[in-house]
Amino acid sequence: MCGISGAVGLNNITDELYQGIRNLEYRGYDSCGVALMDKKSLVIRKNTGGVEEFFRKENVLSLSSKIGIAHTRWATHGKVTRENTHPFTSCDGKFAVVHNGIISNFRPLKDKLTREGHKFDSETDTEVIPHLLEKYYKETKNIEQALRKVINVLEGTFALVFISPMAPGQIFCAKRESPLMLGIGDEAKYVGSDFNAFIDHTKNAVIIDDGEYAIVSRDSYVVKDFVTGQEIQKNITKIDWDSETTKKGGYPHYMLKEIYEQPQVVTNALEQDSKSLDELADMIFESEKMILVGVGTTYYVASYGNYIFSSLAGEFCPPISSDEFPSLANVDEKSLVLALSQSGETYDTLTALKYAKSQGAKTAAIVNVMGSAISRFVDKAILQGSGPEICVISTKAALSQMLILTLVALRVAVKKKVMTKKVFNASMAALHDLPGIIQSILNERSGFIHRIAHSYCKVRHWLYLGRGIYYPVALESALKMKEVAYVHAEGMPAGFLKHGTLAMIDQDIYSIVFIPPRSDKALYEATIHSVDEIRARSGFVLGIHFDERGKNKDLFSEELILPKVPPLIAPLIQMVIGQLFSYFTATSLKRNVDKPRSLAKSVTVG
Ligand code: GLU
Repeated sequence: MCGISGAVGLNNITDELYQGIRNLEYRGYDSCGVALMDKKSLVIRKNTGGVEEFFRKENVLSLSSKIGIAHTRWATHGKVTRENTHPFTSCDGKFAVVHNGIISNFRPLKDKLTREGHKFDSETDTEVIPHLLEKYYKETKNIEQALRKVINVLEGTFALVFISPMAPGQIFCAKRESPLMLGIGDEAKYVGSDFNAFIDHTKNAVIIDDGEYAIVSRDSYVVKDFVTGQEIQKNITKIDWDSETTKKGGYPHYMLKEIYEQPQVVTNALEQDSKSLDELADMIFESEKMILVGVGTTYYVASYGNYIFSSLAGEFCPPISSDEFPSLANVDEKSLVLALSQSGETYDTLTALKYAKSQGAKTAAIVNVMGSAISRFVDKAILQGSGPEICVISTKAALSQMLILTLVALRVAVKKKVMTKKVFNASMAALHDLPGIIQSILNERSGFIHRIAHSYCKVRHWLYLGRGIYYPVALESALKMKEVAYVHAEGMPAGFLKHGTLAMIDQDIYSIVFIPPRSDKALYEATIHSVDEIRARSGFVLGIHFDERGKNKDLFSEELILPKVPPLIAPLIQMVIGQLFSYFTATSLKRNVDKPRSLAKSVTVG
């Protein structure tokens, strides 16, 4: 995935480069590097480790340069070593390149370049790019033409950015499938993987589309087409996020901050433009079938969506993990594929949507980042308005997507005449109570959840169980536990347990059971049966339920009691508990909460 940041200005830009790349660290944090210009030669600094550590160790801020590029890596090809850290340079030291994506034909290119005498220092796919630039520059004596020739031979995906002492005031960049945009400031111009790279300096962005390259200097920029070399007139997009909202604001971690922002995020979701929701509801109403796609957390959001559409609107809409979509989905012009993506750049999901479109299907998406590839690709995009989500672990964005799916399902139900206006209004009233209830849970229950999480943080195996719509809640909560605390947690339908996994239950296997409100009688009773089955085998059960204290005497090993709420919002509240439980387990285990190992937020590689 990697983060890329570049700046060219009137004065020293190292500080801006630092802020930019630090804001992009959620995209990868294996190693970090910069290329700067000292008079007429390149200065390269790179090393393993995170951005702050790298800048401190290498004393980068003591350097001065009016132009520079920086990279924070999430390795795809080659181990996490200094040698494999970007930027990479050509043999003659005339090109310094950073890259996000995968050059799929790098092996034959590398073999050929090696035969031609080029020396490689890394195991990465990226390193072919500076050598190709050198080769084609020798042929053409023109950097722009060399760039176009390089693009022509590269297969795979890239956002590539480079500088050269032969054009000391210019940053060159090009894009195919990996995100890239420009920041248009008065004093300086910027290049970045997304607008976090320059949000502290300008809110004017130019989004580079696939098949375009750009040449950026302090006071101008030009965007052109790969193939024709013709200039393309681009609009300036105004970023409506505030750089303050991307700061931690007194919280120890972004994850906690983002969990605590959920009352506001839910309010924002409830204030979604109803025209836009109606348009999506119309598309669903008019399609013969709908498939929901997402991957990781958003796959579980999609699974949640299936339950909500089925139960409210009688609309069965199977969820498919985006990476599996081309192998599994049968779609045509009567189908609608509705995608979920926080970043709007998720490679697997974009690939699924492209496949769907190629089969004639309609496409729609709920995304958080305006101007993102998915939001621009689909026929209908809903911008969820959750604000920047910096922690690699998604919390508020997922909750908001679940809510928006609920809002759309309610509209579809009315359109299909399977729900009366009265039930619709009652459901909306229940949803409007949600921000206040989440707020009171955050205020009143966090301490207790912290205590339980701390007491059981050494548990190595958890089963997360739920029935019905609580099943995707269990899956998502288990994923949270795995990704942030590195603790094994398996989500499962509670009814599935007795068909195999029950054999494993003893005093060493711990279960969390998401229990519906008693008013959901059949589901409640079935879930309690599962609890009984575990307890009969000496298994530990943490019950998360809405009953009064004492009602379940002796049933649970530990219990977390929630205020009584209508069934429509109960699973959303349980999600918040799952988030807090994994957060406090992770802090008890001293995990790197905002940047868990091996992960990156915006997965823009396949
Ligand atoms: N393929 C490049 C590398 O491994 C870039 C990876 C990426 O963009 O995630 O260094």
